[in-house]
Amino acid sequence: MAKVVFREERCKGCYLCMDVCPKKIIVVAEDRMNAKGFRPVEVLKMDECLGCAMCATMCPDCVIEVFK
Ligand code: SF4
Ligand code: SF4
Repeated sequence: MAKVVFREERCKGCYLCMDVCPKKIIVVAEDRMNAKGFRPVEVLKMDECLGCAMCATMCPDCVIEVFK
């Protein structure tokens, strides 16, 4: 199973990763903000992740790492 890790403090809330994910499993973390004042993202159903790393490729701030 793939694992997606977010360096949340670097996230600027652009949500490009959500748009590009083919499984649409990346969601806004509604329960917290980072130190920059943005709501970061998280993966809702990690077991559905393809490990394609399209999210990591798209992220302009290198927030995302994908392990497969
Ligand atoms: S693309 Fe990167 S900076 Fe933008 S919301 Fe996703 S993780 Fe945050
Ligand atoms: S690795 Fe692919 S399937 Fe998994 S969260 Fe990122 S874009 Fe979505």
